[in-house]
Amino acid sequence: MYTTNYHRASSVDEAAALYAKGTDAKYLAGGHTLLPVMKQRLTAAGDLIDIAKIPALIGIEASGDTLTIKAATTYFDIMHSQDVKRTIPAIAHLTSVLGDPAVRYRGTIGGSVATNDPAADYPAALLALKATVKTNKREITADEFFQGLFMTALDDNELITAISFPVPEKAGYAKMRNPASRFALTGVFVAKLKGGEIRVAATGASQNGVMRVGVIEDALKSNWSASALDNIKVSDDGLMADIHGTSDYRANLIKVMAQRAVEAAG
Ligand SMILES: Cc1cc2nc3c(=O)[nH]c(=O)nc-3n(C[C@H](O)[C@H](O)[C@H](O)COP(=O)(O)OP(=O)(O)OC[C@H]3O[C@@H](n4cnc5c(N)ncnc54)[C@H](O)[C@@H]3O)c2cc1C
Repeated sequence: MYTTNYHRASSVDEAAALYAKGTDAKYLAGGHTLLPVMKQRLTAAGDLIDIAKIPALIGIEASGDTLTIKAATTYFDIMHSQDVKRTIPAIAHLTSVLGDPAVRYRGTIGGSVATNDPAADYPAALLALKATVKTNKREITADEFFQGLFMTALDDNELITAISFPVPEKAGYAKMRNPASRFALTGVFVAKLKGGEIRVAATGASQNGVMRVGVIEDALKSNWSASALDNIKVSDDGLMADIHGTSDYRANLIKVMAQRAVEAAG
């Protein structure tokens, strides 16, 4: 049996201080990844620092050309936010197809981004939208943040405080769900940023976690339409193959999901 001390922090500074003096400390947000992993004895925490009720980590702000979602904001609050629906409706949609109601009530954007599960939805949105991850120490671009399967640029005791998204001209997300887990068998987020840059990111597909899809970006640059992808072939090099789908199947899903995402983006 492991002994775990539970702490509820009321500020970011208090959370960081509790973490620093804890033993095998871990931050706890929605608990939908960390607690199952602890129950399976795949990890243990001497001190669990609950950050879910820290006021500075909860809330959504839309100002000018930026949408900022604080780290402990739940999926439920994100998918119902009028600010999110108005500025980047693709994020509201992505959140509405993430997990199930129980996951959406408790799970947080910060927990998802910190975990960087290779089949999670949010990493695709951050990468395609050129988001910035804000922490209690610095700001990290999405391009630098995601570093491979379950790997991120976060240092030990670095707490994500918010994610900021530049509001794009158009964006869309489409996902083929694993019917059992609800994670993405493959999901694709497409974005046409203000200024014209096209970025496309796929999740659930690569052996190395979330990835950009250059061949689709190139096709959409000259023609932003689903039909522009009709004759595109996505290579299956480096894509996952498992009981849910071959690498070739996932390569085709990237194309099909990208077409649906472009249609959704309009
Ligand atoms: C049945 C089920 C279905 C799911 N389906 C999907 C799905 O379809 N798509 C999807 O994307 N995800 C899915 N998930 C995962 C879900 O999104 C998790 O909630 C998410 O991965 C973690 O968020 P959390 O708030 O629960 O984090 P927690 O479990 O509390 O924490 C996860 C990790 O992140 C760290 N952490 C949390 N917050 C921060 C922070 N602010 N700064 C630094 N580190 C932090 C924790 O220390 C821990 O290591 C599913 C989970 C379940 C159980």
